[in-house]
Amino acid sequence: MASDRAETCSFCGKPAANAGKLIAGPGGVGICDACVSTCGRLLEREKIKEGKAPAAPNLQEAPAKPSLAPVKLIAPTQLRVELDNYVIGQDHAKKVLSVAVHNHYKRVNDRLNQRDAKAEHVLPEIELDKSNVLLIGPTGTGKTLLAKTLARMLDVPFAIADATTLTEAGYVGDDVENVILRLLQAADMNIERAERGIIFIDEIDKIGRKSDSASITRDVSGEGVQQALLKLLEGTICNVPPAGGRKHPEQQCIRVDTSDILFICGGAFVGLDRLIAKRSGSKSLGFVNAPTNQPTLSAEDMLKGLQPEDLFSFGMIPEFIGRLPVISVLEPLDRSALIRILSEPKNAATKQYQKLFALSGATLEFTPTALEAIADKALALGTGARGLRSILEGVLLETMYNLPNAVPGSKFTVTPEAVQGQAPISVHAPTPSKSRKGA
Ligand code: ADP
Repeated sequence: MASDRAETCSFCGKPAANAGKLIAGPGGVGICDACVSTCGRLLEREKIKEGKAPAAPNLQEAPAKPSLAPVKLIAPTQLRVELDNYVIGQDHAKKVLSVAVHNHYKRVNDRLNQRDAKAEHVLPEIELDKSNVLLIGPTGTGKTLLAKTLARMLDVPFAIADATTLTEAGYVGDDVENVILRLLQAADMNIERAERGIIFIDEIDKIGRKSDSASITRDVSGEGVQQALLKLLEGTICNVPPAGGRKHPEQQCIRVDTSDILFICGGAFVGLDRLIAKRSGSKSLGFVNAPTNQPTLSAEDMLKGLQPEDLFSFGMIPEFIGRLPVISVLEPLDRSALIRILSEPKNAATKQYQKLFALSGATLEFTPTALEAIADKALALGTGARGLRSILEGVLLETMYNLPNAVPGSKFTVTPEAVQGQAPISVHAPTPSKSRKGA
């Protein structure tokens, strides 16, 4: 009579064909996914009644998850002012990101209200779509810095992922969950906090499908990673293996809803300007940092001329680009921007080294021409502001090595000659005024 396979849900009677998933038990019984969720909620409510779980605001129709407090909204103008303290230039990106981030958390708070309204059987209002962000610009121009600074200002967890490592590890989709794991770790494994975090995915252009590329395997994996990331970007319940790595059938996974996670994707898209120029018939080619010395298409012109099809022909799949509706193009950093970056931001590299010297009772100074020489070196490297720190590290290495042995109160001055390695950093030890007494 009773067959071994469940034909219907033994709880609600839904036929297997109509149920999303039907979990079979012994003796031909089965339970559908909807009933599993209902049971989960019932058990949760029981736990709350027994005081084993924190009470949800409305016991009658408790939401599945305990609600967090709304995110404190910061006006875009205020976000912008704060960004100015840390990031030089990139006006358009700052404006775009300030608005995107403000709107994103407005949406997060609205969804929170809607969840509560649903619990009270109030009809849902207009649902706001998620708007993830795409930042296009050469390496070392501040894409990651902008995202990181915003997350810090909003006090939400932040994680950085490198899209190229996802490509290498495989394209079946398991590995993208590790991106969420990183965010969870940044949130001290607090799932609710992680679910409102910001993830920056770098090198997104490196997972483009290149139909005319020589490597077929790489093409397929690039598209596979885009497909897997797509789900995260649009919002899904993602099963995260707590120990990282591949998912294992026996491993208990952590369920994380990515619907309220803001994804900011960054990529250099080297050659994209050429595509735009070719399509729009312009002769301007190449970023300043690109190996060619061709004239460039300004970030503003790139943004004006950018069409989704340019990104498609760069290997991005339309569905993926569709999930990144907010786009900004960052400017390559010129000499004067690099000089400003060295000394103006609140935690500028020169200020950090000056603090390190001060902690040893010494003073460190840079002549204006030394800053210019450092900027020139960084320009030659072609890695934007990224090279500044390593140049400084190289220039100051010898001095820092001997710093603990220096006369307390010594003043070190970095000159252009010191930057170019033609002279040591000049030192002025304080004159020992008291010791002269005995002479
Ligand atoms: P990318 O655009 O490749 O993501 P990052 O944001 O990681 O570049 O920049 C690398 C480092 O260079 C940052 O940590 C920061 O110190 C510096 N930097 C880059 N761009 C800027 C900028 N516009 N203003 C201030 N510092 C910058």
